[in-house]
Amino acid sequence: MNTTPEHLSTQLIHHPYNPPEGFSAPQPGIFKASTVIFPNVAAMRARNWKRKDGYTYGLHGTPTTFQLEERLSALEGGLQCVLAPSGLAAIATVALSMLATGDEVLIPDNAYGPNKALADGELAAWGITHRGYDPLNPADLVAKLGERTRLVWLEAPGSVTMEFPDLPELVRQCRMRAVPTALDNTWGAGLAFRPFDLDGHGLGVDISVQALTKYPSGGGDVLMGSVVTRDEALHLRIKLTHMRLGLGVGANDAEAVLRSLPSIALRYHAHDRAARALAAWCQGQRAFVQVLHPALEGSPGHSAWRSLCAADGGAGAAAGLFSVIVDPAFPQPAVDRFCDSLRRFRLGYSWGGPMSLVVPYELETMRPAWPAAVARGSLVRFSIGLEAVDDLRADLAQAIRQAFGGVGQ
Ligand SMILES: *Cc1c(COP(=O)(O)O)cnc(C)c1O
Repeated sequence: MNTTPEHLSTQLIHHPYNPPEGFSAPQPGIFKASTVIFPNVAAMRARNWKRKDGYTYGLHGTPTTFQLEERLSALEGGLQCVLAPSGLAAIATVALSMLATGDEVLIPDNAYGPNKALADGELAAWGITHRGYDPLNPADLVAKLGERTRLVWLEAPGSVTMEFPDLPELVRQCRMRAVPTALDNTWGAGLAFRPFDLDGHGLGVDISVQALTKYPSGGGDVLMGSVVTRDEALHLRIKLTHMRLGLGVGANDAEAVLRSLPSIALRYHAHDRAARALAAWCQGQRAFVQVLHPALEGSPGHSAWRSLCAADGGAGAAAGLFSVIVDPAFPQPAVDRFCDSLRRFRLGYSWGGPMSLVVPYELETMRPAWPAAVARGSLVRFSIGLEAVDDLRADLAQAIRQAFGGVGQ
């Protein structure tokens, strides 16, 4: 037999060395693959993308994405997870797996805007109707649950106006009518409350979605979403749609989230403490007529927040987000000047990273009607990062002086 050595290019591709097994380190390895190699045709035929006991193709999972899925399931108290390339892609995956022509989806009035845009655009074009409901009024949801309702979205709280719904009651009403529920749990992040056990007796949502872009990534540098469930049949339904749509995440992004996850609880509670301190300070500013933060007494849905997120009577947990309503005596240019004058808060969308961010929102373009629980005026939303609270407070104070002339009562 001819034993002529193969060419260098071939040797470099088919090199026989295998590193020793048993390597162990604090962080999981990153596996990057589109192609996955099978040992023989029988194995190729036998492998099944639905199960996590083997590998078929990079899009259907690698050790890296499987490990991230398991950890995210643990974070939310779920059993299965699929990963999507953004939080919005995770929302869309849920909508497309649960809804067909003729169906209706109910979306809270304070929902993440692009969820409503998806319903207004693609879902409407495919003959799927949608209606909004008042998240603070369970009777409004009950009145809208109908024969064609196949999915109810929940959000606790809405991430701009911050009204906190009576989540267990909304879920109970849907359960009684066997209508599946999907929670956008980006705010709670699996830390403020247990989405699959809202009452301590196993009452839970069917699906929990997160924008991993926010706290799980924690860096403002990754876009990713997750869809967590506790029912195998429901998971497979979502996973099938996910596979048909060709959704997947990059290995380096998955690794970045795996690296951030161990510190998520520490970061979440640090963001929370700082946000509450600053929200309370903003309550004392005469330029602001209302501060919207569910942990603040008097904020819409505060008692619902307290019973879900601070059930033990302690301080409870909340994300590092709050909004203020500026006194309508100040015209929009003054509000814009306030935002432009901030130095430590930067202008930008998203939240959950180390840098504090600010966004002025035009509520009248976002809601069918001005929410009853929210005062009239221009809304400014703050996402509190990890800077020192004193520096952020000083920054707010100087911007208030510049834009509204004067600080304090
Ligand atoms: C950011 C966000 C999303 C979408 O996440 P992306 O990764 O930016 O697509 C969905 N829901 C909520 C509540 C969010 O804040």
